[in-house]
Amino acid sequence: MNTQLFINGEFKDSDELQKVINPSTGEVIAEVSLASEYDVLSAVSAARIAFDHKDWTGLSLAQRKGFLLKISQGILDKAGELANLETLNTGKPIKESTFMDIPSAAETFRYFGENLEKFLKPEIKNVSTQIAHVQANLLREPLGVAVLIVPWNYPLLIACWKLAQALAAGNTIVLKPSSLTPLSVLELAQIVKDAGLPNGVVNVIVGSGEKIGKALCSDKRVDMISFTGSNEVGKRILEYSSENVKKLIMELGGKSASIICNDADLESAVNSSLCSIFLNQGQMCTAMSRILVEADIYDQFVNDFVNKAQRIKLGVGGDFETQMGPLISEAQRKRVIACIEQAKKDDARIICGGKIPAAEEFKNGFFFEPTVITEVKPQSDIFKEEVFGPVVCISKFVKLDEAISLANQADFALAACVWSKDEAKAAEISGQLNAGTIWVNTYGMFFNELPYGGFKQSGFGKELGKEGFLEYTRLKDVIVDKTKEAKPLVNYWYGF
Ligand code: NAD
Repeated sequence: MNTQLFINGEFKDSDELQKVINPSTGEVIAEVSLASEYDVLSAVSAARIAFDHKDWTGLSLAQRKGFLLKISQGILDKAGELANLETLNTGKPIKESTFMDIPSAAETFRYFGENLEKFLKPEIKNVSTQIAHVQANLLREPLGVAVLIVPWNYPLLIACWKLAQALAAGNTIVLKPSSLTPLSVLELAQIVKDAGLPNGVVNVIVGSGEKIGKALCSDKRVDMISFTGSNEVGKRILEYSSENVKKLIMELGGKSASIICNDADLESAVNSSLCSIFLNQGQMCTAMSRILVEADIYDQFVNDFVNKAQRIKLGVGGDFETQMGPLISEAQRKRVIACIEQAKKDDARIICGGKIPAAEEFKNGFFFEPTVITEVKPQSDIFKEEVFGPVVCISKFVKLDEAISLANQADFALAACVWSKDEAKAAEISGQLNAGTIWVNTYGMFFNELPYGGFKQSGFGKELGKEGFLEYTRLKDVIVDKTKEAKPLVNYWYGF
């Protein structure tokens, strides 16, 4: 298990250590080195020098592609080990790490490796006017040093999304995982080292955002920051980066809604809605934490949903039978409990869960029962604020307009679901929903081919797809005069 910082191609200790906890048992599983401000400066210097010396951009695109494919293969070669590590550190069910997080992480490197030449191909535009004819070459260049800051809910997968795109685009990197969940990303650093990337191209530092965030995000040698995390921290990063105007991608929180129409396939809608709030213990930015159900199927939906929610098997992350693991930390569990207490004060009804499971096996982990809340007032906090836990509000609607307006009332606008067998109706509703991604008759499909990212308080910029990839580049416009005979006006403007 790697526990050291990775700077300029070397693993190194630091003076300060931080305990890493297994949320399933509360046990300490590792002590990792925490970066000091000095380590931040070293990591940024290494990335800056590697970029300025063209250690990465100087390679051909085919060589760059080769390195990305090697990293992809390196992840696959260690897939079992990485899945175990991810589950040990996050508590997420091993089935999710094994079949979702790790293969998707490898696939992202493969996809951007395979496509970088196509995506970076310069575009040529000819422009003719009465006075001039020019040919413009629109060039896609890397931005320079990219700081990538990752949350704890999908530590390896989100790190790989950002790293694969930023590297494919030609940037050099300082990657910072959450200090709660650094282990899989430190293993990724080893995979990068084994793949033989030049020193300094990728640097990984673990550290408390409070302590090193400002040094990292306000350093003028950094050209871009791609951040995924909470709104609160996102706003701080906006402040830090404003000192020297950096390119930003902000993937922040959510309070997503699913609209279930009376002509939906009820069984699929119930089953998918369970995943949309209980996968990864509800610790998903796109969690459908509000389900809006048309009145005539409401009772049936709630009944089926609760019956199935109560059958979800809680357990330690490492057990293949486990369907729901613990929350990430005691602090997160306290936050979830506080949200539920507030909902009760606001006269909502907890009809399922709402407490810590009593069984002895859950005593030391940070477990919490799948929770369903009804009779929720639209103005209450539980309907407006992100909980980031296995807690869902189910509300009834009579008219579609009412459902759309409830869905859109949140300050967030990350994702939404629409359930209806009528494609035209689903398209009409999707058009009116204010969210960056809308799933129709499904949930949670992420593809390397498709851009993803929210609006409003959910942030700005996209990840994935050609559009997300291009966020990690800058566009340079080289305009060449091609005017025949007559020179362009500017060349004889002063009459000389
Ligand atoms: P967080 O904001 O607390 O931390 C995210 C990262 O920022 C961590 O690496 C943390 O160490 C770092 N950080 C903390 N303070 C910092 C500072 N002052 N300067 C720089 N970096 C700092 O978020 P979290 O608790 O790890 O994750 C949960 C949040 O992430 C939720 O709000 C969730 O919605 C959001 N999220 C969003 C998406 C998305 O794609 N929109 C995806 C996953 C998670």
